[in-house]
Amino acid sequence: MEKDGAIVGVKATDKNMNPFTVTAKSIILATGGFGANAEMVIEYNENLEGFSTTNHAGATGSGIVMAEEVGADLVDIDQIQIHPTTDPETGYLFTEGLRGDGAILINKEGKRFTNELLTRDVVSKNILAQTDKVAYLVVNQEMADENASLAGYIEDGYATKGETIESLGSESGIDSSTLATTLKNYTKYVKNKKDEEFDRVHLTQTLEEGPYYIIPVTPGIHHTMGGLKIDTQTHVLDKKGNTIKGLYAAGEVTGGVHGGNRIGGNAVADIIVFGRIAGETSASEIE
Ligand SMILES: Cc1cc2nc3c(=O)[nH]c(=O)nc-3n(C[C@H](O)[C@H](O)[C@H](O)COP(=O)(O)OP(=O)(O)OC[C@H]3O[C@@H](n4cnc5c(N)ncnc54)[C@H](O)[C@@H]3O)c2cc1C
Repeated sequence: MEKDGAIVGVKATDKNMNPFTVTAKSIILATGGFGANAEMVIEYNENLEGFSTTNHAGATGSGIVMAEEVGADLVDIDQIQIHPTTDPETGYLFTEGLRGDGAILINKEGKRFTNELLTRDVVSKNILAQTDKVAYLVVNQEMADENASLAGYIEDGYATKGETIESLGSESGIDSSTLATTLKNYTKYVKNKKDEEFDRVHLTQTLEEGPYYIIPVTPGIHHTMGGLKIDTQTHVLDKKGNTIKGLYAAGEVTGGVHGGNRIGGNAVADIIVFGRIAGETSASEIE
């Protein structure tokens, strides 16, 4: 709600769709990004049509739309991050910590095709270049015993198990002899501390012994880096760069904080740092 050029409240509905209003001397938008709003995603990046999402259903971008209606400017709105390792059916996210801990990625032909530890955008691009835009995380029991997330994925049925490389191949439909060669080479790279194919530097797991597990993955929409333009004090800015009186924003609803490629972990830093600044600034500016 706007009065004399200042934001003075919000109109809302309760769970039974009864309308009500909240008046306030300042409003902080903390409504998150728009990664679950397929229409809005395509509006800003048509290349992402058909992608699944890792986001919760509330990531609709409604805060961005509301603020635009009172003249807010947007920044980096077409910068939408896809995460390389999500479940092809549901968009469920498999942590990249799995690759950090030693998982490798192979394609349908059973071959590695990338340094698994490159940034999200590069690994995603490399997966999308593979047959059917699908890849597979390969791990073994030793890793599952040490990694609670991985143990959970296995328990929840995301992984196919093979006692040996041969059975892993036949269970997953991937050529066993190519898979065996891929794993044999990778074991050698880890032991020699040199990845001769893709220059991966963090080589921890030899993956020499089974049982093995394979998890199919494809990139999914994960984070919307663009959003409302704010200043360092979280004031929402209009298209002329002026502050919109009474309106503040923090978190994924804003843009410009992460540039074109959010680094894992930085969203939590974003919401805590800017959430706190928004609270302090808005409280201090109440007249
Ligand atoms: C699977 C997954 C894993 C992640 N892991 C990490 C990680 O390890 N480290 C990291 O830094 N980041 C991670 N992120 C990103 C991070 O979680 C988000 O960027 C962050 O939670 C955004 O916080 P937020 O408060 O801005 O928005 P949100 O957490 O999305 O909260 C916004 C809330 O506002 C509600 N809302 C929206 N519109 C309205 C409306 N009109 N009226 C009322 N309510 C509304 C939404 O329903 C939601 O509850 C992950 C994201 C996902 C999806």
